Amino acid sequence: MAVSILPAERIRQLPPYLFAEIDRMKNEVKARGVDIISLGIGDPDSPTFPHIIAALNAGAAKPENHQYPDYEGMPSFREACATYMQRRFGVKADPASEIVSLIGSKEGVANMAVAFVDPGDIVLVPDPGYPVYSIGTGFNGGSSYAMPLTAENGFLPDLNAIPEDIARRAKLLWLNYPNNPTAALATEQFFADVVAFATKHNIIVAHDNAYSEIYYEDPPPSFLATPGAMDLGIELHSLSKTYNMTGWRVAFAVGNREIVAGLGKVKTNVDSGIFQAVQEAGIAALTGDQQPVADMRELYRGRRDLILDALDAIGLQPEPVRSTFYVWTHVPKGYTSSELASRFLQDIGVVVTPGSGFGAAGEGYIRFSLTLPTNRLTEAVERIKTLKL
Ligand SMILES: *Cc1c(COP(=O)(O)O)cnc(C)c1O
Repeated sequence: MAVSILPAERIRQLPPYLFAEIDRMKNEVKARGVDIISLGIGDPDSPTFPHIIAALNAGAAKPENHQYPDYEGMPSFREACATYMQRRFGVKADPASEIVSLIGSKEGVANMAVAFVDPGDIVLVPDPGYPVYSIGTGFNGGSSYAMPLTAENGFLPDLNAIPEDIARRAKLLWLNYPNNPTAALATEQFFADVVAFATKHNIIVAHDNAYSEIYYEDPPPSFLATPGAMDLGIELHSLSKTYNMTGWRVAFAVGNREIVAGLGKVKTNVDSGIFQAVQEAGIAALTGDQQPVADMRELYRGRRDLILDALDAIGLQPEPVRSTFYVWTHVPKGYTSSELASRFLQDIGVVVTPGSGFGAAGEGYIRFSLTLPTNRLTEAVERIKTLKL
């Protein structure tokens, strides 16, 4: 007799895959022979910079790199992270106690919940937001409380709108600026307000800074540069979007030493660190020439302007794109996010992401990603201009 394979309750409780309907429709349109262009996924299309690949190759040849790495990250890698934090943000961090390597920041987001969320705890999450904040919370028995990010409030959560009893029970607060999916930036004043709020209610603040280097105005700050932030905060940095390294799985967490130690304790028990050759490539990325990153920004800026121009031509009103490689735009009257995404796909073979996939407050928006070769983006732009809404 076969056993009945029943997944754990936490898996059975997962929300249905929100993009399943889009995927189904995409396959149907493809089957009609339509050349589909995807503006759906945020994954840099440009290759990793050559000096980083060279460091990987050199590192891969060293036998000492073939064994288990240090769980927390090689001392030289954590030194490079500290150097980067000081140079880029003016934030001082002790490599030995205030920095830990991550196998991509997604891993850090999920494991922060393992380290700090008990059943019944509340975690404050941005809505719309990266889904892993609430999924990690749910996997560990916590409940997410959605903080709506609205255009009226500059896509910053309204801390004053969080009910007192929720704030009292909250254990952890997630932030993400530069923001995916809204492309908004935080202000230093907002970060200061967060420190005051979290201090008052005894809440750990985790700032996901995956897009810190993708910006179109002044370089965005680190949350940790805010006075008091080091007492209650941790920040996740990723090499994925900055250096076109999404496939490499290398990132780091930096901040308060007790929070870093808690995250490190989970990792010591569930993973065994990052291949040291990848860490050596990470050192080359963080401490090497940053001009290729500036060139990437200009590439994205050009693509952003192409999309903004096309959206203007069909009467859509995108939010200001101040950072990231996304364009967040309101849908016109009479459409839901999914309905507009469906028009893009059915009428012109262009995949966009419905904002509702990022949370209830994302309803009424769609997101365009700029991570596809410019000639394909140009083709998408030509098609968008023909769309009659
Ligand atoms: C892409 C992305 C990440 C994940 O980055 P990795 O370091 O590749 O795991 C984390 N947070 C946000 C908001 C992202 O968009």
